Amino acid sequence: MTTTVNAYLATAPDAPLSKGTIERRDLGPKDVLIDIAYAGICHSDIHTARNEWRGTTYPVVPGHEIAGIVAAVGPEVTRHKVGDRVGVGCMVDSCGECGPCKDGDEQFCTKGSIDTYNSTSYSGEFTHGGYSEQIVVTERFVVRIPDGLALDVAAPLLCAGVTLYSPLKHWGAGPGKKVAIIGLGGLGHVGVQLAHALGAEVTVLSQSLRKEADGKRFGADHYYATSEPETFRTLRNEFDLILNTVSVNLDLDRYLSMLAVDGSFVELGLPENPLSVRGFSLLKNRRSLAGSLIGGIAITQEMLDFCAEHNIGATIETIDASQINEAYDRVVASDVRYRFVIDAATFAD
Ligand code: NAP
Ligand code: ZN
Repeated sequence: MTTTVNAYLATAPDAPLSKGTIERRDLGPKDVLIDIAYAGICHSDIHTARNEWRGTTYPVVPGHEIAGIVAAVGPEVTRHKVGDRVGVGCMVDSCGECGPCKDGDEQFCTKGSIDTYNSTSYSGEFTHGGYSEQIVVTERFVVRIPDGLALDVAAPLLCAGVTLYSPLKHWGAGPGKKVAIIGLGGLGHVGVQLAHALGAEVTVLSQSLRKEADGKRFGADHYYATSEPETFRTLRNEFDLILNTVSVNLDLDRYLSMLAVDGSFVELGLPENPLSVRGFSLLKNRRSLAGSLIGGIAITQEMLDFCAEHNIGATIETIDASQINEAYDRVVASDVRYRFVIDAATFAD
């Protein structure tokens, strides 16, 4: 027996998402049933729906920025109870036993973590994400949303928040560190708030100065347009850490030239094509080029608690399910301030 729920599905790379239904499994002993309240639209949802990474199985329900309320729990669940405010991010399972899982890096599980959507669970079930009324998730992958955070502005933190918080912590962003964030989009605008709250000196590198006032309000100390060649001359050898959130391929050599001695450039965006870098750009200043993938469950909880404490949330535009396709086009056009969040009550309309 399963439960049928309303959802929005991607059915082909070039087809708009459409209304349909999916099945959710019955509650296992350690499962939590969540009534979804809000689901954020991450650019990764669009890459997947449009098969830009070539690995999409159709039909699939995107959505890995999920906030909602616990509706039921299995008999062995201890961490959550009915009525709790909870979130689910990009993963719904991992082996729990390998080194990375034990270290809290479930996203690097050696057996392969199970993505919230477009993934096949250990029991062979195809996973569907948050653009739906309800989801069933094993309790270890369900986190608590602190009372101080509204569910709608918290939803995007489940992916965008932890994707920025994890590398900021790993590379030691804090007082005395100069951090640049490329792209003031869904990821970037949360990253600026987090880096500022951690005490770093924060610079936004955006295509234009259009969003400068917002960037400063999020906590940026400096704001530059990358369309201005002067920006790259002014900021040569400047930063300890650069986080790249851009969803398309950039000329990385130009950005690497902005790193100080021992500085790190961390790739967070997942553009369609391979990255290309000249050796010289790395050798100078002993620079590092790295990547970072979301974050584990413990640090996701830490990030949510940190956001509640520092009054950090996503700046959102709430939409009905029927507006998803229009929202996708606007995200691709960088026309969103700064995250679309779907009101899950409208999946039933
Ligand atoms: P988003 O809201 O679309 O933000 C991306 C930003 O990149 C835009 O706001 C824009 O910022 C900039 N940008 C867009 N087109 C550009 C262009 N042609 N040239 C230069 N800059 C451009 O997307 P997002 O949801 O933040 O996701 C960003 C990327 O991260 C996606 O590729 C996504 O798949 C990936 N991602 C990775 C992880 C991870 O674990 N590492 C997690 C989630 C998402 P400006 O207007 O300020 O220039
Ligand atoms: Zn995401």
